[in-house]
Amino acid sequence: MDFDLTKEQKMIRDEVRNFAQKEIAPRAEELELSGEYPYDIYAKMAELGLMGIPIPEAYGGMGSDWVSLHLAIEELSRADITFGAMIDVTTSVVAQELNVFGTEEQKQKWLIPIASGEKLGAFGLTEPDAGSDAGSLLTTAELRGDEWVLNGTKQFITNIGLDNASIVLVAATVAGTGKNDIISTLIVPKDAPGFKLGKKYQKMAWHASSTHEVILSDCRIPKDYLLGDPDRGFAQHLAVLETGRISIAAMAVGVAQACLDESLKYAKARQQFGQPIFNFQAVQFKLADMAVAIELARNQYLKAAWLKDQGRKHAFEASAAKLYASEMVEKVASDAVQIHGGYGYMDEYPVSRYYKFVKLLQIVEGTSEVQRMLIARILAGSSHR
Ligand SMILES: Cc1cc2nc3c(=O)[nH]c(=O)nc-3n(C[C@H](O)[C@H](O)[C@H](O)COP(=O)(O)OP(=O)(O)OC[C@H]3O[C@@H](n4cnc5c(N)ncnc54)[C@H](O)[C@@H]3O)c2cc1C
Repeated sequence: MDFDLTKEQKMIRDEVRNFAQKEIAPRAEELELSGEYPYDIYAKMAELGLMGIPIPEAYGGMGSDWVSLHLAIEELSRADITFGAMIDVTTSVVAQELNVFGTEEQKQKWLIPIASGEKLGAFGLTEPDAGSDAGSLLTTAELRGDEWVLNGTKQFITNIGLDNASIVLVAATVAGTGKNDIISTLIVPKDAPGFKLGKKYQKMAWHASSTHEVILSDCRIPKDYLLGDPDRGFAQHLAVLETGRISIAAMAVGVAQACLDESLKYAKARQQFGQPIFNFQAVQFKLADMAVAIELARNQYLKAAWLKDQGRKHAFEASAAKLYASEMVEKVASDAVQIHGGYGYMDEYPVSRYYKFVKLLQIVEGTSEVQRMLIARILAGSSHR
């Protein structure tokens, strides 16, 4: 067994760490308060090639691997989780789906701008009445002549409200096939006739990450914007969401690491009873438990990403990584605030922001309950060992 990262993986991790700590971390609080999307940081990330790390060079990417992408997501999230989320959606989900299932023409048109960082992608699965039960979606796509006509509403869509977002991959049932359960994935450009951005959601946190409703009303796109197998659009979406779970785990580890960094610093500096609070065993034990939990979650997401790089099955490992890391970070963030005492509740200390950030990780890309259902299904079907 080899737990060492390769030279290239270490280089990417260190480069992203330096960039994120220098360019993102000092602005994270301001971005959260203003809710402004930082296009300048995005442009620098594009210059570094961060949106295309595992995508082949021929399609605008770096031609590296999924371990490297997830190391980058951890480091970005350690500075500001909204950047980890932006890459999760655009690279792990959208760019991957285009790369694996797209035609050569679709890759040239849509993948290259996304992987090279010129444009951002979004994915549209969730609807007002279809969340965890995503297969019950009501959006329809009907083939009329040479065009698909789409109708429906997608909600909570990340990235699509940003100026540089180009497309949303929409899951829709195909009308008129006589097969009600067929879900296809369609590439819907933001400027397609009948495409409308609905409301911008006001969120508990993650203010610099854009979340919008998308309304498709007789939205028309060319026939050849269908992505992949028309009968397997849902399976395609679920396949790339498996990678999204590894990305959420890496994001959780990044924030948890930031909680530990801040708590260690604070515990060594804060004096009570004539000594640093770090000297008290109750505080040390919290820090020790944080460090152990973070290491376990990091090992798990890296294992899932490594299995993916080997082309091996990793459904169990991805769900386990997402479930464990997202629940771990909630406890770590809570302990980080506790260690900071009253200051931990104040905006001037980043742990108050981290505490608000982390709840979302147990909800997106399959809730904790959904991950447990998926894991139980794997256990029921066969042994994963
Ligand atoms: C900020 C944000 C960004 C998002 N970005 C995107 C995006 O870009 N694209 C996209 O398509 N979606 C996106 N989502 C949607 C997200 O993936 C869903 O919110 C999530 O899948 C849960 O669906 P829901 O909100 O409808 O909750 P529901 O499915 O209504 O779940 C409510 C509760 O019931 C539980 N539950 C449901 N079914 C079961 C069951 N069978 N057994 C046990 N418990 C169950 C759930 O675990 C949860 O606790 C985003 C959401 C948010 C909040």
